[in-house]
This record gives sequence, structure tokens and C-alpha cells, in this order.
Amino acid sequence: MGPVVAIIGRPNVGKSTLFNRLTRSRDAIVDDTPGVTRDRHYGEALWNERPFTLVDTGGILAEDPDGFSDIIRYQVEEAIDHADVIILLLDGRAGISPFDRELVQLIRPLSKPVMVAVNKIDGPEMEAHLAEFYTLGIDRLYPLSAEHRFGVNDFLDDLVDHFDAPYNQSESATLDTIKDSFIRLAVIGRPNVGKSSLVNRILGQERVMVSQTPGTTRDAIDTTCTIENQSYLIIDTAGIRRKGKVRQKLEKFSVIKALKSLDRCHLALVLIDADEGITDQDIAIAGYANDRGRGAILLLNKWDLVEKDSRTADRYIADLRSSAKFLAFAPAMTISAKTGLRVRRIFKLVNDVYAQYTTRIDTGPLNRFLEQAVKDNEPSLVRGRRIKFYYAAQISTHPPTFVAFVNYPNAVHFSYHRYLINRIRSSTGLTQTPIRLYFRKRKRRQRRSK
Ligand code: GDP
Ligand code: GDP
Repeated sequence: MGPVVAIIGRPNVGKSTLFNRLTRSRDAIVDDTPGVTRDRHYGEALWNERPFTLVDTGGILAEDPDGFSDIIRYQVEEAIDHADVIILLLDGRAGISPFDRELVQLIRPLSKPVMVAVNKIDGPEMEAHLAEFYTLGIDRLYPLSAEHRFGVNDFLDDLVDHFDAPYNQSESATLDTIKDSFIRLAVIGRPNVGKSSLVNRILGQERVMVSQTPGTTRDAIDTTCTIENQSYLIIDTAGIRRKGKVRQKLEKFSVIKALKSLDRCHLALVLIDADEGITDQDIAIAGYANDRGRGAILLLNKWDLVEKDSRTADRYIADLRSSAKFLAFAPAMTISAKTGLRVRRIFKLVNDVYAQYTTRIDTGPLNRFLEQAVKDNEPSLVRGRRIKFYYAAQISTHPPTFVAFVNYPNAVHFSYHRYLINRIRSSTGLTQTPIRLYFRKRKRRQRRSK
């Protein structure tokens, strides 16, 4: 396989047109390639006698508005991991969208070559459209018309030149290490449940190495710590630990704070005051973690205050389970930040959940599991039509996200959706992480009908 070139960009900018133009094929899917490549668009291309492999990363979730940031992340992650050169394609007719700016931010830190091309510039008379795009702060923009070939030759000349200059491997390795070595934790919960007590307890432990790093906002301080060779980053520790009169007032912002730290975390430690009992607000806060697809661990704190017998903990946890059914996968336990009861054990759970949160399931086994699941329990007919499952693939981690291609995606009943998710859980062992499953219309037909 030659160098890999990935085309990224939001829907409708012309990625598949460019892909087809460069690979000179009408069929964007390599249909009979086994395994994971089936859900992508791969093609071989040749320029100045230099072969390369082109990947159109777009499309899969394009019609899903709330999945949009997932697509962007997916595209960029895949491109970072697998491509040698990245093409960011923009739409010269539609202009800049906020998503384009987001994409530019995401690719800027990369040390791989990135070429930013503005498509739908169908001739020199339209180059004036480029002006707006220079506000993105990109040094070199390539005007293109994927459809009419304008600018494509110059673009390709520069593209293949990048193949000679291998990108700085060590720098990119660092990026990956940063991405992977810390488990990022948010500690959330309503005021007075014991967040700062827990964080202080964790950081005050022997054998915990602690250092502070600036977080993303002006007054946020994140703390990194290492416990038994695993590094953790506790998000916005200052915001959690800060005390005093002002703090009481600022607690109005506790939801906003929780949301902000959820944006940056892998996993949320959701604290609940067991002595007061489980409240609606606790469930609402846990719900935010779920909405954002974060892993979660439910901690019933202040267990030292609870009058108990041998069955009390089970009863509390059963209560919690029935009020937060959507978090059935999240481990739960009782702790005391004050006495330190089971605080160490939290990290064992964190490691387990994180391992699942970042798991990749190979396409072969995944398809076998789903095939069996469908065989065991066929979906019912919808208006006389049989729902057919063609194949599935995992498209991203954080959390594990799967796409199943079917003939009628909208006809899959939510109970069947839930059934398949449960089957994925039981067959892959992903029992403690959120997982997502999307249904998509089989792409090949869509493309051909264009
Ligand atoms: P994708 O979603 O990024 O893969 O976008 P497509 O390749 O499906 O293109 C989206 C639309 O833009 C289609 O209607 C194309 O015909 C149109 N398009 C693509 N490239 C060009 C171009 O160079 N000039 C013009 N005028 N339209 C284009
Ligand atoms: P935050 O607002 O969520 O950060 O909560 P704090 O950590 O400030 O705790 C609120 C109050 O609960 C303080 O008076 C703590 O001493 C107390 N507290 C926190 N955790 C425990 C616990 O496990 N047991 C007991 N008995 N008190 C606790």
C-alpha cells in the first residue's frame, strides 16, 4: 500500500466527488474487501507515477445532526491514526461554517502534512471566493473544482511532493502518548456531596504523585496524579477544591461546571450523598454524563453516616439503579471520602471502565455476534417488509460506537435497538461502558443512485 491520503470535511463539500475524480471511479465503495474497510471508501490513485491510497472518511453519520461532532472526531482520529497526508476540504460556494473552524482547530496541532483545499471554485473567475477562507489563518489554500477539474493538477503535484518528506514521527508519537497516557476524570455531583473531600483524600494519599497543570480556562487547574503506574488527570481541581463564601454563590454554576468538565473527561465520578438519599438532581447530573457518552462510576458517599445492616448497600444500589436506568452499565459503590473507605478501590474500577471505553472490536467477530443475534431473534416485519442487516463496524472509541448497515434504518424499533446493544455487550464483554449503535442505510445503493 502506498502513502495513505485522507479526505476530511463536513458533508456536501465534495469529498466523494474529489475522491471519484482522483480515483477515476464511479463506485466509492470497495464492496468485496473483507473486514473493517467495508464501511470506508478506499481507492487507489496515481499521479506523476506515484501511487497512493485515497480514503474518503466522510458520510457515514452525515444525516445525523446530533452525531455531527462524533463524525468530525471520528474522521480526524482516523486520519491522525492512519493517513500520511490529510486533505481538509472546504466548500467555496457555501463559505466557512463553524464546523470548518472546529476542524481547522483540530488539525492545527498535527505534525503530518495537511492540505487545505477550497472546492467548488469552478474557474479562475471564482477565486475571489477564497478571500473569506484566509481568515482561517491557513498559509496555503488550494482552490479546486472537483467536478470540473480546475486546480486539480497543481494540487496533485503538491500532494505527491509530501510523500517524500516523512512527517516528524516522534512528534506525532508524543501526541498519541498524550492522548492515551492519562485517564481524564471529572468529579461531579451537586453541592456538598463531598467532591472536594474526595479529591483531597485521593491527592493526600501516600504513594500518590501529584502535580498541577493549567486547564483550558483561565482559572481552571487540573491535577495529574499517578497511582500504581497509571496516570490520571482530575479536571478543574481548583474549581472543585476552592472554598469560602464566594463558593456558595458560585455553586449556582455547579451544573455548568459539571458540563464543562464532562466535555473534557473520559470518565465521570458521580458523587451522591448517601446520608441524604438519592435526589432528582443527582440523577439529572448523572444524566449529563450519559448524554455526553462518558463512562461513569456512581459513588454513594458519606457511607460512614448511614445506619446500616448487611443489606443496606444492596438496597441503596438497587434504588439508584431503578432511578437511573439509563446508567445500568455504570458500576456503583459506597464510599466515605471522610474515612477513606474504599477510596482506593475507585481506581481499580476506573481502570476497568476506561479499558472498555477505549476498546476496539474487530469487524469479523462483531459481524458474527450480530448475525447470531439477528438469527436468535429476528426483527418483526415493518409494513410487510423484512429488515435486513448487511454488516456492521465499529467506527470509533470513547465510547465504543458501532454502525450497522441495514435496508430500512428508520424502521428498526427502539426495543430491537436495545436488544442489539445488549447482545453486543454480552458478546464483547463491554458491560461497564456506554456504547452507541447507529443504523445507516447501506451506502452503496445511495451512491449509485446519485
Ligand atoms: P461529500 O458529502 O463531501 O462527499 O460531497 P459530494 O461529493 O457528495 O458533493 C456534494 C455536492 O457538491 C454534489 O451535489 C456535487 O455535485 C457538488 N460538487 C462537488 N464538487 C463540486 C465542484 O467542484 N463544483 C461544484 N459546483 N459543485 C460540486
Ligand atoms: P462538595 O461541595 O461536593 O465539594 O462537598 P465537600 O467536600 O465540601 O463536603 C461537604 C461536607 O460534607 C463537608 O462538611 C465534608 O466534611 C462532608 N463530607 C464529605 N464527605 C464525607 C464523608 O464521606 N463522610 C462524612 N461524614 N462527611 C463528609
